[in-house]
Amino acid sequence: MNREGILVVISGFAGTGKGTVVKGLLEKYDNFALSVSMTTRQPRPGEENGKSYFFVDKETFEKTIEEGGLIEHACYCDNYYGTPKAYVEEQLKAGKDVILEIEIQGALNIKKMFPTALLLFIMPPSAEELKRRLVGRGTETPEVIDKRMRRAAEESEGIDNYDYIVINDKVDQCVADTYSIIEAAHMRPKRNMNFINKIRHELNEISKGE
Ligand code: 5GP
Repeated sequence: MNREGILVVISGFAGTGKGTVVKGLLEKYDNFALSVSMTTRQPRPGEENGKSYFFVDKETFEKTIEEGGLIEHACYCDNYYGTPKAYVEEQLKAGKDVILEIEIQGALNIKKMFPTALLLFIMPPSAEELKRRLVGRGTETPEVIDKRMRRAAEESEGIDNYDYIVINDKVDQCVADTYSIIEAAHMRPKRNMNFINKIRHELNEISKGE
């Protein structure tokens, strides 16, 4: 049976480890395609252009918006972030589940435009653990960490708009839980109407012959 791809939105506070969870999904299962976002933020050490993000200046970002090249965009901690359209459309058509790792404003815009998108929010086991992970990452200044903790408090108000939360205590368990939720979403009747109608038709044909 040919499955239609699901647009899977994965959000979570900065430092929750959602990047690691997404990496785990991509390594372990082969039906996923990861959308690489465009951003005006500066690359962190080790980040590669075209792999982590497409790093661009503000003018290029605004031009891409004007040309209709992004399916959503948002401003997060003074930088722009957006999802390039072409790749997402291409991969969904090819039957892949496309992962968007994006923040909450973008996620809610996606839900408006694509009501069948699956919205997952990766949670830390506690707020204290979140702060420990952010500090432990060692890539941000204390000011940026404070800003991201404040932003997390704001974002926490919107979590009930998501379809599921997944707790990232142990990464492997979180990857397995996330995968199970996505697989379950594929089994929703609404996503399987062709198959259901085929069985309905066959049942009718068989009963006619009896
Ligand atoms: P970071 O700077 O830590 O890589 O990302 C900051 C936030 O922006 C994260 O919550 C990340 O998920 C989100 N983000 C990354 N790409 C996009 C995007 O294309 N659109 C939106 N709306 N948010 C994004």
